[in-house]
Formats: sequence, C-alpha cells, structure tokens
Amino acid sequence: MKEYILCKYGEIALKGLNKSNFESVLAKTVKRRLSGLGNFSVTRAQSTIYVEPLDDSCDMDEAVERLKKVFGIAKLTRALEVDKSMDAVLNDTMDYLAEAFEGASSFKVNAKRADKKFPFKSPEICAELGHKILEQFPEMHVDVHDPDVTVTVEIREKHAFINALKLDGAGGIPVGTGGKGMLLLSGGIDSPVAGYMIAKRGVIVQAVHFEAPPYTSERARLKVEKLAGEIAEYCGDIRFHCVPFTKIQETIRDECPEELFTIIMRRLMMEIAQRIAAKEDCACLITGESLGQVASQTMYAMVCTDAVCKVPVLRPCIGMDKAEIVEISRKIGTFETSIEPYEDCCTVFTPKHPKTRPVLDDVEKAQAAFDFEPLIEKAVSETETKLIKKFI
Ligand code: ATP
Ligand code: MG
Repeated sequence: MKEYILCKYGEIALKGLNKSNFESVLAKTVKRRLSGLGNFSVTRAQSTIYVEPLDDSCDMDEAVERLKKVFGIAKLTRALEVDKSMDAVLNDTMDYLAEAFEGASSFKVNAKRADKKFPFKSPEICAELGHKILEQFPEMHVDVHDPDVTVTVEIREKHAFINALKLDGAGGIPVGTGGKGMLLLSGGIDSPVAGYMIAKRGVIVQAVHFEAPPYTSERARLKVEKLAGEIAEYCGDIRFHCVPFTKIQETIRDECPEELFTIIMRRLMMEIAQRIAAKEDCACLITGESLGQVASQTMYAMVCTDAVCKVPVLRPCIGMDKAEIVEISRKIGTFETSIEPYEDCCTVFTPKHPKTRPVLDDVEKAQAAFDFEPLIEKAVSETETKLIKKFI
C-alpha cells in the first residue's frame, strides 16, 4: 500500500490532436517541479498523471504544494494504492478514509473500472464500500447529490486506487504550449499578476525591468527579482532582463514637453522591450495595465504606446478593478512583496499634469525633436540578463 498523487487534466483533455503534445509538456513540467523532493516516477494514463514515490525519502506534502501550482492540472488528489481485490478495497482503506472524513458528515462512493474483468461491477463496488463506511463511521451519512466527500474507487490494470481528498489545481494549460512572451515587470501589484495570467494560458514568460539608478535603488531591483521568483513558482524559471533607463529618462526630461513625459517614456519602454523580445524569440509583450487606472492607462494613451509596437501587447488586467487584481496577487503570493515601499523608475519624473487624452500626432512630433535611437540601442546592448531559477 502506498500513496500516489493523481493529477487530473483540465482543459487539455479537450485539445484533440494536440492532446499528446500538451500531455507530454505537462508530464515534463511535473517531473521538473518535483526535482529535489525525492525519487518519483511520473506516468500518464486516462487523462491522469500518476506521481508515484519510489522510496521513503519522497516529500509528498511539498510535492502536492508544488503540483498545485502547475498550470494544466485542474484537480489533484492523494490516492491510496491497494491490492486489486474487493477485500483490500474494503479493509485496507479505512485509515485513509478516516483522514478524508475529518470535519465531514456526508459522502458518496463512485467506482470506475478500467479493467472490466474485475469480478465486481461498479454499482456493486459502490454498494459494498458504502456499506462498510457506514458501519465503520456511524456519524457519516450518504448524500448522492451534494456530499462533503466523494470517495472514488478506480480499478486499474495492476492495482486499485482509492481517493477522497481532492484539491484544486492551478487550472489553465501547460506552460510551454503557447509560445513565449515578454512581461514588462515593475515592482507594483499589477504586472506580476499579468505575468501569472498569461503563463496560465500556456505561455513561457520572460521579464524585462527598467531601472534608473541612482533615482531607483539596488533594493528596488532586488524586490522585482524577488517578484519574478514568486511568479516563477507558477511560470517556471524566468529569464530576467534589466534595462538601464536613466539616461533615456533624463533626456526625456530635458528634451520633451512635461505633459508628455510619461507617454513618451512608455513608448520608449515598449520599443526597448520589443527589441529584447525579438532577440529572445518572444512573440508578444505583456503589461499589467488596467483601463483608466492612471493617466497613462487611458485608451488614448494606449493608442500612443501601441503605435510603436509591432507585436501584440497582452494586457490581461485591462478590465479588472484594483480589488480584483489584489485578490489574485494575494492568492499567488506576490502581494506582500509588491507593497514593499521601493521606488519605480516610472515615478522618477512624473509630470504635474499628464495628458489623459494625448494625440498620437503631437506625441510623435514631440518625440521626434530628439533622436533617441542611439540611446535605445545603448540601453538594449547594456541590458543585463540573468536566469531566475526556481527549480533545480
Ligand atoms: P504595476 O502595479 O504593474 O506597477 P501600475 O498600476 O503601477 O502597474 P504603471 O506604473 O503605469 O502602472 O505601469 C503600467 C505597466 O507598465 C506595468 O504594469 C508594467 O507592465 C509596466 N511597467 C511600469 N514600470 C515598469 C518598469 N520599471 N519596468 C518594467 N515594466 C514597467
Ligand atoms: Mg507601477
């Protein structure tokens, strides 16, 4: 008898011909996320990934915690493997069920037979196990419509599995099945959430961060690297690019009309980000913008920033309220880091009255008064890249 972790796919079960590619990417991710936690075997059958601990050194609790953050897994459960006999299903499962029934008062039993030669049919398995449970746990009652605990018995080729403790997985589709994207990562609340949301749709996320020393500190950059590490628990390892942006910001301050500082700065950020994206084979940019949140996030401002972009800019937070974004950031564990009080380069030279309705033509003319190209090239070439590694 031993415990397994069974991971049930979500949406990928629907992907038709791509399914086997999705499954193999997911199985590889599962293996990788378990590294350092002991010796596991990872196999797949019937829209399930079976994670089997091969020796006592396996850290099952930590394995479950890590697998809860793997996109592509809708539900996971710790299942007990028992001998393939009715006797084992009825008698070897009671300690396991005692744990699953803690705090519960109703249950139902489900049975699935992958092996049709098993001498009992599914309704018989349900009836016998249900009966045994009522005998063993007199405080429990059967509720087939809305049970607190659903006990599932699966009769497979070699063994029977019983599971009752179902946990929510991260949902989404496996990272690595949807290409690569470049996240503009600040130290704020929104952009880590944006990266998480796009990774959830299968995209490998890299991050680019703009810093402006000495206006922004070393600590501010470390905070952003920490955020990258936090979302990496979901996204996987992240290539992190840090762009020296001071000279460009000072030049905007000296050469451009004050009310357009922010919009021109954001256009230059996009320009640099997409050049790094191109080098890294990333097919889109990702930002944490939310419509109307600040002057630079009005629709008119976005028209001006998008005008420099040759690749799509994905803005998964665009229609969300701050409170909704905060809720996700708490759930994924970035909120506490995001609210640490370090400066961002965006707030270094903020105009008193930024234009909320900039006109593209005016912005282009104002920006054209100075040749930013050499500065852009220099910033790209001086960008420092490191790998934020979460898993060995
Ligand atoms: P966030 O909470 O993500 O910082 P925000 O509400 O503070 O967003 P802005 O500061 O206007 O909004 O930034 C909008 C978006 O621009 C951010 O979500 C992020 O994608 C990008 N961005 C802002 N500052 C930086 C930076 N220093 N480096 C990289 N990207 C940035
Ligand atoms: Mg910000």
